[in-house]
Parts: sequence; C-alpha cells; structure tokens
Amino acid sequence: MEENKIIYLDNNATTRIYPEVLEAMMPYFTTKYANPSSMYTFARGVQEKLDLARSQVGSLINAEPVELCFVSCGTEADNFAIRGTLEAYPNKNHIITTKVEHPAIIETYKSLERHGYKTTFLDVDSDGNINIDDLKNAINDNTAIVSIMYANNETGVIFPIKEIGNIVKSAGSVFHVDAVQAVGKLPIDLQKEDYIDLLTMSGHKIHAPKGIGVLYIRKGTKLRTIQTGGHQERGRRAGTENVPYIIGLGCAASMVNAEMDKFIKHTSKLRDMLENNLVSRIKNTKVNGGNAIRMGNTLNISFKNIEGESVLLHLDTYGICASTGSACSSGTLEPSPVLRAMGLPFDFAHSSTRFSLSLDNTEEEINFTADTVVSVVEKLRSISPYKD
Ligand code: PLP
Repeated sequence: MEENKIIYLDNNATTRIYPEVLEAMMPYFTTKYANPSSMYTFARGVQEKLDLARSQVGSLINAEPVELCFVSCGTEADNFAIRGTLEAYPNKNHIITTKVEHPAIIETYKSLERHGYKTTFLDVDSDGNINIDDLKNAINDNTAIVSIMYANNETGVIFPIKEIGNIVKSAGSVFHVDAVQAVGKLPIDLQKEDYIDLLTMSGHKIHAPKGIGVLYIRKGTKLRTIQTGGHQERGRRAGTENVPYIIGLGCAASMVNAEMDKFIKHTSKLRDMLENNLVSRIKNTKVNGGNAIRMGNTLNISFKNIEGESVLLHLDTYGICASTGSACSSGTLEPSPVLRAMGLPFDFAHSSTRFSLSLDNTEEEINFTADTVVSVVEKLRSISPYKD
C-alpha cells in the first residue's frame, strides 16, 4: 500500500463529504446569504433552494416534503421525537425502547426516568434480536411512544420494523424509528412503511456535513415542539434554518439515492471478503450479530483474549481507521453496552472491533486490512496475559 495512505473503515461513525455536496453549499455561505424568511427576491432564491433540498430528502425516503423537519443532528431528532410525543400525550407516562439503542435514545430515556416516566428497555438475544413477545407484554394503553432503531450502529443488525410497527400501531402508541444507520444505505419507503410515525436521519452518515439532521413527522402525528421561538419549519422547530447544510443534505440525499444499489452490492461484497478472510485465518473469533439480518457494510468482530482498543491502536499505525464499542471510563475499559446486552462473554466483548465500509473502499484496501489484522492479532495474543 502507498505510504501515509488512510484506509477509512469507520463509515458508521461518519462519512467523507462528497465534493459535489460542498460545491452545492458554498454559494450559501458567500454570495447567497439571505435569510430565507425575508420578503425580497434575493431571499426567495434561497427559499426555493431550501424547498428543493426538502424534496430531495423526501425522495430518498419517499416522504412528502411537508413531513420533514430539519434539525441540528440525529441526536436532536431523537430527543424531539420522544420529548415532543410526551408533551403531546400528557396523560401517558410509559415509554419503550431496547437495550441496544444509541446513547441519543438510551440517555434520553434515562433522563425521562429521573423525571418520573416509566421506562421499558427490551432485552436482545445473542444475535441482537428482540423477542416480539416481550414487546407485546410491555406495551399498554399508557405507552406513549416506542422508539426502536432500524439498524444498529455497532453490529449492523436490522430490526423487524414492520412486525414491530404493526404491534405498536394496534396498541395505539406512537412509533419512532432511529434510522440514522439505515437511511441512504437501505431502501426506505415511508408511503409503504405506514406504521412508522416518526423517523430520524442524520446528514453526516450519508456524505453531508456533520450538524444537520431530519425528523420525519408523518402527517397527522401529534407532536409538540420542544424548541420554541420563531415560526420556522412550520412552527415545529424554531431557529433560522441552517441553509448551506440543508442544501448540502439535499444534494447528498440525491447522490446516495442514485447510488444505493451500487452501495449495497459493493459494500456487502467487500464486507463478506473481510469477514471470511478473518474468520478463516484467525481462530477464536466471533462475528457479532453474524446470525442476524445485518447491514451489508458493517462487520463487528471479536478476537478472544485481546482488547479491541489495542487492535485499533495497532491498526492506526498502518493508517487503518476502525472503531470499537468499548468506552474508557475511570481508567477501566468498559465493554460496549450493545455487546453486553447481547450476552457476549467478557473475553469476547472486550475485544470487539467494528469495520464499516463505504463505496470509497477497494478490494486492495480490504486485503491489506485483513493481512494487517491477522498479524496484529497474532502479535497481541502472543503477549496477552489471557490464554485459552
Ligand atoms: N442514532 C444512531 C443509530 C447513530 O448511529 C447516531 C450517530 O452515530 C446517532 C443517532 C446520532 O446522530 P448525530 O451524530 O447526528 O447526532
């Protein structure tokens, strides 16, 4: 491999901004700086471009432009969905989610719990799937909202959203789906998927900039604003629109929409290559979520008896960017809550490494990564205090 080359295999963390996206954004920082709410012609051009971006994002998920509310990020969209629903249903005080959600959901639920709401965090099995009966048993007339992710950011495991959604709708609760890791990578059609009331997406996972997100709000869904102020976004989210970022997101949405089939084929082929290579050459490995239906671009793999962080630091010296779900707190490495929820034994949970691919990755990069991982794991195992 070329020296100093970065091999970026962390696309579930963030993605490269496409040059076309940046180009589309630039005039709205420089010459076309009007506030879209102003009355003059100079502003109208900006408003028209915002309208276009709204329809471009709508096309990606087959939603009507009026159903989209631009916000600052996926985390804000998640907070808005949950807190806005609870404001709209003041007589309900029970909320349901799963143990493997992103912190944007888990921490919001914990905060609401401290404010007196009753919470249910559904368990997952060793493949990362929920038991549908647990949901049926937990949901009741008092359940305001069920928030469940489309695809897991760490393992790529895809939840059965249709089955879940139908249960939630027949119980009369609001169904929110955090689709940050699925939008632009899986076909999503909100005309067909009519059991989804609210859906979160985030720009920086699909080659738009960091700091822009969307909450899809199905027409007729009761939701109160949580950010009060001006009348922007039909009174649903106050604050002058982040014009360049919204325009960038519109452009990125069109691009990923056009290349989605190619993305799915390309990334799943390379992911399978990497997975098969590592599993066949390194003993005592486990593909986390490997038996479940998974996103084709994600590989979460554990190498028994070594720490994921050590693998990452060694890979970094070769320019390979990957990640681990572990969190370093008070000097001890805590295994990922997602893998813990899946019941992964300690010696595997500690050693997880996530590779997440994009259309930019090549076979050459994957082969180089596989060879490097094999030698890094061999080296780390030779000095590990833990032995089989
Ligand atoms: N939800 C999921 C599943 C995510 O993976 C992320 C980001 O990694 C978020 C929410 C938060 O999105 P943002 O970084 O735009 O706040």
